Amino acid sequence: MERLVYIDGELLPNSQAKVSVFDHGLLYGDGVFEGIRAYNGRVFRLREHLRRLYRSAQAIMLAVPLAPEGLEEAVLETLRANALRDAYIRLVVTRGVGDLGLDPAKCTGGPCTIIIADKIELYPARFYEEGLELNTVTTRRNLPQALSPAIKSLNYLNNVLAKIEVSRAALQEGVMLNHEGYVAEATGDNIFIADGGALITPPASAGILEGITRAVVMELAAAMGVPVREERFLQYDVYTAGECFLTGTAAEIVPVIKVDGRVIGTGKPGNITRQLMLRFRELTSNEGVPIYPEEARAVARDRA
Ligand code: PMP
Repeated sequence: MERLVYIDGELLPNSQAKVSVFDHGLLYGDGVFEGIRAYNGRVFRLREHLRRLYRSAQAIMLAVPLAPEGLEEAVLETLRANALRDAYIRLVVTRGVGDLGLDPAKCTGGPCTIIIADKIELYPARFYEEGLELNTVTTRRNLPQALSPAIKSLNYLNNVLAKIEVSRAALQEGVMLNHEGYVAEATGDNIFIADGGALITPPASAGILEGITRAVVMELAAAMGVPVREERFLQYDVYTAGECFLTGTAAEIVPVIKVDGRVIGTGKPGNITRQLMLRFRELTSNEGVPIYPEEARAVARDRA
């Protein structure tokens, strides 16, 4: 069955789901997006993703056509229309159709809302068992004073350039430094290191996207009694860390065992990393906004 894509209130088959070549999302990367996941019939941290979307939109003066409740319902409706229970959801709001100039004021039709839902698996299972190898890329993360990495905009060229380096090195991910040379994040994931029983991750002020998965990992670590510090660190700190892992909606938690040729810790996924991966799996299978409320009520009745 062909999947259905939501565009401005309509559900259209993939092959007919099209937007104008004059949409400023295409012409200028003018728009915002979210990558969201559903597990076991529930959308994980949907409200947190929506909150970040509206904040990104606010920062670029884009008025999302639907209110958060309406957009939440549109996401659920798209999942139901595709009979999905485990899915990756791409939510996009573009500036809409304008002329060939930059000025968003000329996009008089208003922003365009797109929701695509499909199945995904980012990395093969062996990377979760054995860990990833990373390189530091030469492409620096966007200067926050120029274009804040906190805005999840359609302008992802910075990350695309970094990803080209990663692919050319036949790797899966890469470490991006900020303009000052501190570790910022990966091309589509946040980064953590573990040292002396504590976790360290770059702070928002280092110029990163504040990941939803990053926040979940911080909660899980707190519940495990593992201290988390948001602190700037350098490549040296990664090379000499006991553990390293990446977090992201698509990648979830993925161990890192080598960076720039240096073996990290024992060269195997570390204890804290593995514990977090287990707890993350548990959480994602039980928590979230139900796609099929009837079914969720029946499960709750059975448990009671
Ligand atoms: N950093 C960047 C640059 C990203 O694109 C992503 C993926 N959205 C992340 C970090 C991880 O964020 P999240 O956990 O919200 O998916």
